[in-house]
Amino acid sequence: MAQTQSINQSRLIHLNFRRSLATITDQSKLPIPEPKDCSKITPNYAKLVENLSIVQKRIFGGQPLTLAEKILYAHLWNPKEINKIVKGETYLQLKPDRVAMQDASSQTVILQFMLAGMPETAVPTSIHCDHLIEAYEGGDKDVKTAEVTSKEIFDFLKSASEKYGIEFWKPGSGIIHQIVLENYAAPGALMIGTDSHTPNAGGLGTIAIGVGGADAVDAMADIPWELKAPKIIGVKLIGKLNDWASPKDVILHLAGKLTVRGGTGHIIEYFGTGIETLSCTGMATICNMGAEVGATTSVFPFTSSMHSYLSATRRHPVAKQATSYASYLKADVNAHYDQIIEINLSELEPHINGPFTPDLSTPLSKFADFVTKNGWKDEIKAGLIGSCTNSSYQDMSRVTSLVAQALDKGVNPKSDFFITPGSDQIRATMERDGQTEILQKVGGRVLANACGPCIGQWKRTDIQENEENAILTSFNRNFKNRNDGNPSTMNFLASPEIVTAMTFAGRLTFNPLTDTLVDKDGKPFQFSSPSGDELPKHGFEKGREFYEPTQVSAGNPSTQIVIPSDSNRLQLLEPFPIWHGSEFHGLRVLIKVKGKCTTDHISAAGRWLKFKGHLENISNNTLIGALNADNEKVNVVRNVLTGEDGSIPEVARYYKENNIQWIVVADHNYGEGSAREHAALQVRYLGCPIIIARSFARIHETNLKKQGVLPLIFKNDDDYNLLSGGDIISTVGIIGLEPGKDVTIRIRKEKSDDKKKFEEFDILTKHTMSENQIEWFVMGSALNLIASKQKSTSI
Ligand code: SF4
Repeated sequence: MAQTQSINQSRLIHLNFRRSLATITDQSKLPIPEPKDCSKITPNYAKLVENLSIVQKRIFGGQPLTLAEKILYAHLWNPKEINKIVKGETYLQLKPDRVAMQDASSQTVILQFMLAGMPETAVPTSIHCDHLIEAYEGGDKDVKTAEVTSKEIFDFLKSASEKYGIEFWKPGSGIIHQIVLENYAAPGALMIGTDSHTPNAGGLGTIAIGVGGADAVDAMADIPWELKAPKIIGVKLIGKLNDWASPKDVILHLAGKLTVRGGTGHIIEYFGTGIETLSCTGMATICNMGAEVGATTSVFPFTSSMHSYLSATRRHPVAKQATSYASYLKADVNAHYDQIIEINLSELEPHINGPFTPDLSTPLSKFADFVTKNGWKDEIKAGLIGSCTNSSYQDMSRVTSLVAQALDKGVNPKSDFFITPGSDQIRATMERDGQTEILQKVGGRVLANACGPCIGQWKRTDIQENEENAILTSFNRNFKNRNDGNPSTMNFLASPEIVTAMTFAGRLTFNPLTDTLVDKDGKPFQFSSPSGDELPKHGFEKGREFYEPTQVSAGNPSTQIVIPSDSNRLQLLEPFPIWHGSEFHGLRVLIKVKGKCTTDHISAAGRWLKFKGHLENISNNTLIGALNADNEKVNVVRNVLTGEDGSIPEVARYYKENNIQWIVVADHNYGEGSAREHAALQVRYLGCPIIIARSFARIHETNLKKQGVLPLIFKNDDDYNLLSGGDIISTVGIIGLEPGKDVTIRIRKEKSDDKKKFEEFDILTKHTMSENQIEWFVMGSALNLIASKQKSTSI
């Protein structure tokens, strides 16, 4: 009886769900929930507009500005003191409104903030426990496991949050960027986050920038936060997305155009008539993946869908204020963009990007040929949807519309199917509206509201070690090893709709727009295009109460921060030594890296994430993904003291123990990928004062500077070819280092025709250090400088 009842109930849910798809909700008829206290999240628009008008008049003679420029310049630390802004050159000193951190990166931030000696954070700050939950059994079970395995980390972060007045979101509450979008983002605000997909909040008109932990410490310690004034790429959207295309396809397509380096040093700002056709969460997806083209961040102007989303998430006071300042929240008429790209949404087709890089973009209609040409096995092992990039109500309702069609025809997915809700609010709303039940009926496994497989926290049991296989995800990043630690997993990125439909076929060559499957009666079945509500008709369901963040009004200095003395995951930080005041001599090239070297290669995630708070232990993964140009091997370098080969961290430690400092020589865009501060901390800890590269990814370059490592760039790109592992390096120009002044590198190396003899020659390098950043280098790190200033003010 109980079973019949439950089947009937589920039919009812199914029917209701299908009926709800018949029409797209009129946003103006959505229920308006009780507003929450918005005092800490509403930008001080009057002050921002005043700041902007000072800068716009004084520096730009009143000329029109883009939205990104307006928001940045309105947040200048001292708008009356700046005299000139040259994009790509001037370092802006900024005052962010907010800081957000995830559990993996925040550990080091807190350890550093502790050294700064302040009673509470200077700006509203939140911590989100999302990265340390391994996906295995699904949902709450995995959260419970994480609460045991990462207890010391969560206890540490919770106690530190209480001490310093930080809002703490416990494991299972949701993924940082989804929570920020639902709770903290506000049009025209400036926030920074210690995660590279912080730009997600650009979908709600926020300039949100992914930074290293040291930058977060700056903002939390009320020190001006520095950013080189970015150039602005204007992306003009016209038309309207057709049925199968989704916002994800806008950025997948753009990634193919711009490549992983094309956005470096730029903010991507969207404009044009097409933006009014997009949902707020769809715009967040687009901004989220702007990180994949190296953009500083991405942003949309204030739209009616942002207004609706703010109201639906209990922030209509913010929406009301934003409406009053609407002219601040869009580009001025005739604003100048440094580059303009136009995308006609009406012509855009779904795309699939990958494998192994997010800019390898293929339109869906050409994807089957692409797969065949490459000789890949025509099989999808798993389809994964959700994550911070694509787990909005709209995403889930469109996906469920496809699954409901298949369910009706008795068609089940051929591949494993996983769903990651971005927050407990989304999870609860999906459950209430019957989406979860439909997804589960076809075997979909709903994972915890956490990063899980997106960051390698995925206990996979369906493949052998190193087995070549393909997965399709609606995530944002697809570097090798990213999802499951298996370098042979080909990971393709697509919209949640395309991932879902292709998961039913289980084949890479299946095109849901044109191809058919076979239904339970042996008849051909073709998906109709997906549809769904932008926002829930009955409002968002509140997540479970115990997932609400801790409410804080101020720090509590009497709270003891919990660090177990025998921990192998948390370790108090020691300040790095200050610069010795001389030129460097006798540095050794530890490795000349060939090709792509992302922060995943420099400091791998996956199983290493658990050592984030323990610098000594996590340093055992330093550069283990780097390809050695001398021997074409990954993580194998020659120890010049012993003459033997060893792993990179082993040899680096050996040099450190023998008081030999070392350098890395790198190719283009060194350090692209996640804003992983450890990638800088670890090399510094193991004894690296200088890295010479053909070019650096922005966030990593700044992270290196913060930790007292000098990033130098070959003046002549070909000089990269002159260096090899084991070369002996000296510097000329560190004494008297100035912004814009070149540094000479003197290289002593074995002669190729006679290994007993040496040759010596000089090459020139440049750098992007500002005066402030040179002070960081001199003091050994930015944090050393902050601590010394704290001491001098408290004397
Ligand atoms: Fe988490 Fe992935 Fe989003 Fe990063 S990109 S916050 S790992 S879900």
